[in-house]
Amino acid sequence: MVYVALFLAVQGGVLVAFTSSIPPGVRGQIEDQLNASARVFKRIMSEREAQLGVSAQLLARDYGFRDAIATADEPTIRSALRNQQQRIGADLAVVLDLDGTIVTTLTGNARNTNNGGAGGADTGAPELPSSFMAEAEEKGAASRILPVQDRLYQLVLVPVMAPEPIAWIVFGTELDQAAARDIKALSPIDLDLAFLRRGDDGALHLAAATSSHAALEAFLAQPAESATGSLLQGAHEVNQHLFWGLPLLEQDGRTQVAAVLYYSLDSAMQAYTRLVAILLLVTAGGLLVLIVGSVLVSRGVTRPLRDLARASQRVAAGDYREVVAPARDVEFNDLTGSFNRMVGAVKEREQHIRFQASHDIETGLPNRLDFERRLGEHLAAGKPTAVALVEIQNLAELRVVLTHADVNDLMGAIGDRLGCLASSAPARLSTESFALLLDGDEGTAPDADRRLEALATTIRNSFLAPFTVGDIVVDTSARLGLVRHPRDGEDIATLLRHACAALDSARLHPQGLAWYDRDSDDSRNRRLSLMSELREGLSNGEVTFAYQPKLDLATGTVKAVEALVRWKSATRGFVPPDEFIPLAERTGDVRLLTEWGLRTAVRQLAAWQERGCEVAIAVNLSTSDLMNQRLPQLVAGLLHEHRVPASRLKLEVTESAVMQDAARALAVLNELAAMGLSLSIDDYGTGYSSLGYIKRLPVSEIKIDKSFVTHLATSEEDNILVRSTIDLGHNLGLSVTAEGVEDEESLRRLRAYGCDCVQGYLISRPVPVADLEPFLGSAHHVEA
Ligand code: C2E
Ligand code: CA
Ligand code: CA
Repeated sequence: MVYVALFLAVQGGVLVAFTSSIPPGVRGQIEDQLNASARVFKRIMSEREAQLGVSAQLLARDYGFRDAIATADEPTIRSALRNQQQRIGADLAVVLDLDGTIVTTLTGNARNTNNGGAGGADTGAPELPSSFMAEAEEKGAASRILPVQDRLYQLVLVPVMAPEPIAWIVFGTELDQAAARDIKALSPIDLDLAFLRRGDDGALHLAAATSSHAALEAFLAQPAESATGSLLQGAHEVNQHLFWGLPLLEQDGRTQVAAVLYYSLDSAMQAYTRLVAILLLVTAGGLLVLIVGSVLVSRGVTRPLRDLARASQRVAAGDYREVVAPARDVEFNDLTGSFNRMVGAVKEREQHIRFQASHDIETGLPNRLDFERRLGEHLAAGKPTAVALVEIQNLAELRVVLTHADVNDLMGAIGDRLGCLASSAPARLSTESFALLLDGDEGTAPDADRRLEALATTIRNSFLAPFTVGDIVVDTSARLGLVRHPRDGEDIATLLRHACAALDSARLHPQGLAWYDRDSDDSRNRRLSLMSELREGLSNGEVTFAYQPKLDLATGTVKAVEALVRWKSATRGFVPPDEFIPLAERTGDVRLLTEWGLRTAVRQLAAWQERGCEVAIAVNLSTSDLMNQRLPQLVAGLLHEHRVPASRLKLEVTESAVMQDAARALAVLNELAAMGLSLSIDDYGTGYSSLGYIKRLPVSEIKIDKSFVTHLATSEEDNILVRSTIDLGHNLGLSVTAEGVEDEESLRRLRAYGCDCVQGYLISRPVPVADLEPFLGSAHHVEA
C-alpha cells in the first residue's frame, strides 16, 4: 500500500506538471507560427502583386499594343493580352477603355488550362472603384483585392498611356482554393487558410479555403466578426482552433475581404495528448507491476516472518521442532538458522535444567522432587501403588574408608542395582536413602503384602553381593520401610512420612524390613513426648547418676567409678537408659543429657575433692557429643569452675560413635586428651574396627564389652577372645577393663590374664552416690 501510494504520488506529480505546463506553451508556439505564416502570406501576396504589376506595365508600354488600342484593333489587343496573361499565369486579364467598358477580357487560369484560356468566356468587367483608378493613374500601377462577380481576385490596374491614358489593363489572380493551397504549402506548419469576403447581407462569407472546416464556420458565426464587420486582427481562439486574421480590403470602416490563417489546437496538442496517454498507460502498467511485485515481495517477506512468529509461539508452548527456511532466500536462511540454533540452545538448556531440577547431581538419579511427581501421577491415575524406602545401613563406617566421590559412586551403583529389581528408577531421597515406586497390586491385601515383602527381601538380599567402587570392594546392607496406598496414607506427604516411620521400625526388625504400623507410629509419638519429659526430668531432679565402681586389680582399690544415668519419672516410673538414650541420640536431646552429666560429675568430683577423696568419674558420651566441637570448651569450663583436675574426669566413647565421622570425632578427642582427660573405648569388641585403628585414637583404655565377659566362666571361646584382647591392648600400651563381671570364676580368670580393671555386679551394682561410701576410702580394699 505504501509503495503504491508513493508511486501514484510521484506519477501524479509528473502528470500534473506535464499537463499544466503544456497547453500554454503549445498555444504560444502556434501563435508564433501563425504570426510567421501571416508574414509569409503577406510577402507572397506582395510578390504576386509585383509580378502582375510588372507584366501589366510591360504590356502597357508595348508600342504595338498601344497602337492596337488606339486603332481599336481588337484581335491584336486580345492576342497581346493573351500572350502576356499566359506568360505570367494570371487568371484574369482585361483591357478596359477609359469609361470602363471592356475592350477585351480573358479568364481562366493559365496554370490550369493549357489551351491558352481560349475557352474562357468573358466574365464581365470588374467594377473598379474610382480611388483605385485614381491611384493607378497617379502611380502608374495600383493593386487591390477585389471581388469580381462571385470570385475574389488580387488585381493590378495599369493605365495605357499615349501619353494620355487611353485604356486600362487589369491583371488578376484568383484567390481560390488552389491559391490558398499554394500559400499553405509554403507555410512551415500544417495550417489552414481561408479567404473571406463580405457578402450582400453584410456578413463575412467564405470565399475559398484549403479545406472546409467546422471550426471556420464557428469563427464566422462569431458575433464580433459578423456584427462589427471589422475582422479582429491577430490571434483568437475559437472552438479549439487558433485563428489569425489578416484584413485584405477595408472599405467604409469594414473589412470587405480578409484572409484567415488557423490551426487546430487539438492537433497541436495531439502529440502531447498521446504522450499523456502513454504516460497514463505506463503509470497504469507500472502500478500493476508494482502491485504484483509488492504483493510477491511482501509475501516473500511476511510468510517466512509469519512462519517464524508461529514457530516462536510453538517454542513458547514447549514445541522445539525446527523451522524450515524458505529456499533461495539467504537472509531468511540466516535468520531461520540462528532461530533454530537458538531454539536448540533453549531446548538443551531446558533439558539440562529439567534434569537438574529432577535429578540428584552427584549420582544422576531422580531426586525427591521427581519421585514425588511420579508418585503423584500414580495416585492421580488411581493405580494401586506401594512405596519402599531403602536405607543404606553402614554408610557411617564406609565414610571412614571411602572418599566423597567414592560414596557417590557407591550410591550410583546401589541405585543401578535397585533399578534392576524394581520396575521404575529409584530416586535418591537423602544421602543415605532411596525410594522405590512399586506396583501395589490389586489382589487381596495379604497377597499383595506378601508379594511386596518378597520383593523387598530380594532387594535386601541383592546387597549380599559386594559393590566395587574403584578398586575397593565394599559390603553394605539395607533396611526397607514399606507403605501401600491407600491403606497407609492417602497423599504423597503422608505416604512418605509413614514410609519413614516404617523404616524407623525396620531398624528393630531382624529381617531389616517393616510395614508402616499405626500402633508403632503411636509409640513413636509417645517416645517423642518422652523426650520432652526427659528434658523436664533433667532440670527437676528426676534424673540422677548411679555410680559403679571400677576395681583396680593390681592395687585392689577403687580408683574410678562409672557414672550411669538413672531416670525415675514421676509419671512413668523407672525408665531404663537403653530406652531413652538411643531416642535422645536421634532427637538431639542427648546433648542436654551429656551437659547435665558432665556438670553433675564435675560437681561430685569437687565435693569428693573437698573431703580429700581422689576417686575419678567416667562419663559416657554419645555419637553426637563427639560431633560437638564446643564439647572440649564446655568440659574445660566446668573443670575450671569447680577447680577439678582434668585427670579426674574420664570419658567413655564407643567405637561406632567415633566411626560415624572419624575426622570430626578425632579432632574433639584430641583436644580433650590434650587437656589431660583420659579416654576409654567402651563396649570394645562389638564394633567393626581393628585394634590397629584404635591405636590411632588418643585413648588410654579399652573396656571389653560385657557380652564377652559375663560368660567367661563357661565359654572357652570368650576366654580366648578376652585373653587375646587383653594381650593386644597391653601391647598397644592401653589399660584394659572388663565390664560385666558377675562371678568369682570370671574374676579369677581375668586376674590370671592380666586384666587391669574389672567392673560388674560382682564388685557392685551401679549405686546412688550415698551408697558408694564403702568404696571411697583410699585404704579400702575390695577382697574378691
Ligand atoms: P555401658 O556404658 O556399657 O554401661 C554399663 C552397663 O552395664 C550399665 O547398664 C550397667 O548397669 C551394666 N552392668 C554393669 N555391671 C554389670 C554386670 O555385672 N552384668 C550386667 N549384665 N550388666 C552390668 P545401664 O546402666 O543400663 O546402661 C546402659 C547403657 O546406657 C550404658 O552402657 C551406656 O552406654 C548408656 N548410658 C548410661 N548412662 C549414660 C549417660 O550418662 N550418658 C550416656 N551417653 N550414656 C549412658
Ligand atoms: Ca560405659
Ligand atoms: Ca560398656
